[in-house]
Amino acid sequence: MGTQVCSIYLLDPDRTALRLTASRGLDRAALGKVTLGPGEGLTGTVVQEMRSLAVEDASAHPGFRYFPETKEESYKSYLGVPLAMRNRPVGAIVVQTADERNYSQTEIDSLTTIAAQLVGVVENARLIESLDRADEGSEFLEEVRRWGLPTVDLTEPATPDLELMGSPASPGVAMAEAVVRGTPDVDLLDADHDYQGEEAEIARFRDALALTERDIVKIQRAAERETDEEHALIFSSHVLLLNDPVLIKRIEANIADGQIAPVAVYHGLEEFEKRLLAVEDPYIRERVEDIRDLRSRLVGHLLQPGDRGPQLKDRIVVAAGIPPSLVVELKAEGARGLVTERGGATSHGALLARSMGIPAVTGVPNLVARVAGGEIVIVDGDAGRVVLHPSDSAQVAFHEKAQALAKLETEYLQYRGRPAETSDGVRVALKANIGVAADLDIARENSADGVGLYRTEFPFLVREHFPTREEQVRIYSRAYEAFPDGDINFRLLDLGADKFIRDASIQVDRDPFAGYRSIRVLLDHPQVLRDQVQAFALAANGKPIRVLIPLVSVLDEVTRVRELIEDALRALGGSYSESELKLGAMIELPAAVEISRALAKEIDFLSIGTNDLIQYALASDRENSRVSAHDDSFHPAILNMIRRTVEAAHAEGKTVGVCGEIANDPLLAGALIAMGVDSLSLTPSAIPALKLKLSSIRIDRLRGEFDEVLAIGDAQTIEKRLGELLRDGAG
Ligand code: PEP
Ligand code: MG
Repeated sequence: MGTQVCSIYLLDPDRTALRLTASRGLDRAALGKVTLGPGEGLTGTVVQEMRSLAVEDASAHPGFRYFPETKEESYKSYLGVPLAMRNRPVGAIVVQTADERNYSQTEIDSLTTIAAQLVGVVENARLIESLDRADEGSEFLEEVRRWGLPTVDLTEPATPDLELMGSPASPGVAMAEAVVRGTPDVDLLDADHDYQGEEAEIARFRDALALTERDIVKIQRAAERETDEEHALIFSSHVLLLNDPVLIKRIEANIADGQIAPVAVYHGLEEFEKRLLAVEDPYIRERVEDIRDLRSRLVGHLLQPGDRGPQLKDRIVVAAGIPPSLVVELKAEGARGLVTERGGATSHGALLARSMGIPAVTGVPNLVARVAGGEIVIVDGDAGRVVLHPSDSAQVAFHEKAQALAKLETEYLQYRGRPAETSDGVRVALKANIGVAADLDIARENSADGVGLYRTEFPFLVREHFPTREEQVRIYSRAYEAFPDGDINFRLLDLGADKFIRDASIQVDRDPFAGYRSIRVLLDHPQVLRDQVQAFALAANGKPIRVLIPLVSVLDEVTRVRELIEDALRALGGSYSESELKLGAMIELPAAVEISRALAKEIDFLSIGTNDLIQYALASDRENSRVSAHDDSFHPAILNMIRRTVEAAHAEGKTVGVCGEIANDPLLAGALIAMGVDSLSLTPSAIPALKLKLSSIRIDRLRGEFDEVLAIGDAQTIEKRLGELLRDGAG
């Protein structure tokens, strides 16, 4: 921004004083010393009122307070922006210049974006700091609750073919030897190791630290190679923790107290873990997985010195949780499957496993203690089933099933390059839903007819802070490389509900029905929208830019978003013509269905998101298996809503696609084609299978009887009737 001073002020933990914590430009001697009360001076006002403040000549401002220690008398202009974490003030970032200066709205927005990114870094540092300072009784500690491990009877006899059910998190089947990830019980650690003296134990610990760091760097590289750069970022908390001097000191103090190194590590990290678990905030609790992962790596090196720990290649990994880091490691190392105790089918780790094609079952209670390394385990990611101690006959049955699936896969492959066509010759465009960069390759291999839905959230989810505009440009450019004609519907950032961010600068609702999510959030943070749209445009580099607005509920949202987008493009300097921009609205709410004709008039295309449409129309929370069901998609309300939306779009001469999971089912896909939907968008790996299935579906009979089918009152009867009408050869 061309300013001479940039400073960061942070609120002290007791929140009574704002302290100058870092600065370029002000006198370093003032760091940590200058404090302001809430509301005191310009910066105190910024923080107390949580708003930015731009002043041409600060010394002439009535609120100005001068601190001689900072030697700031020579600076005139002032711009302060609050740092806020989940709507709570944390501090402020301030820039100053020697000359009087009028800060433009764009500059204020830029500093606000920087503040949003910075707050994630501050949060991490604070978190580690408060863990470090626990003994001094920080505010954080007051929230500590006792935490007890569930106990499992280790003496349970090995029942053959023991079937355990969990959530089907990622499809596919696998049978292989298990590798158990996790730290053995502390009593077992202590069992047969003698204390070798403080110096020797510390040396062992330091070696383990170095080896663990080496492992993480190695996985990061493999992740970059096997997946993409994005995934390597997942390990940032590990690296921060490994380098935390207080943690190292604490572990060494445990050793000095007579604990052997693995036990000292166990207790050192356990302290952190317990304190994190005591915090209600789900954002912070998520870090527990990182701590556990790190602990198991360190202890692993201490127990098997010189060893990298068990190889994951061709194994099934059994673990307590499903942190994204573990999934990335599995992919990079070539593991066959994953089974975990915790985690739902919609967690980040599960989403990644699906994108990476690793069969996975999550949420299997008391799993880890039941499985020993080297045992054969069967994972059925389609059914959400795990089989322990499989008998010979179960193993034979598995091989048969795997072979049948493999045969089917080969059959699917033949459909990769063919167009999607029903047996009576009706064609439909099959596009891809993209969640992570790896999906782009699969989409291309399966000759997707474009990207119907590019979910832009993932890079925001894995980072501690929001990706910069430049980082986003690099990410979106890959989509243009894969689909050079630019048929890519980039969805604006859709945060909230199941899309869960680490960056704490934007607070969103986790409960979808609370409703503060998606475009509503983005309109409150226009600088995030602006960066994202500019990144689309820079990546497009003259190619078409197709932007999809999620969760539209009122017309005004489209008007406001269009204005923001046009401003953002204009601010890039005129090299972008508005005709390159195509704006689409997602129909994901019953309200949007009702205004779909008016929406279709305003925008260039519609896209129906049935995952959310079903959840909001039928009150069936998509993350809660108690209230969501397979036949929700066949519900007459849903099919009628889709038909009305299609008619509304076509009446205005606009195209309409469907990008929810509904398109994966051949009967529903047939029904959608019969309604005249212009494109279906689905998980890229499912494209060839759908082509094969569509080749035995005919839609002419359904077309003639659509009114009759849609008048049926219940989902099961509709599903049955669709089967009769659509299956070729039937009836
Ligand atoms: C939908 O809601 O159907 C949709 C496609 O969006 P998402 O699943 O990302 O919410
Ligand atoms: Mg949605």
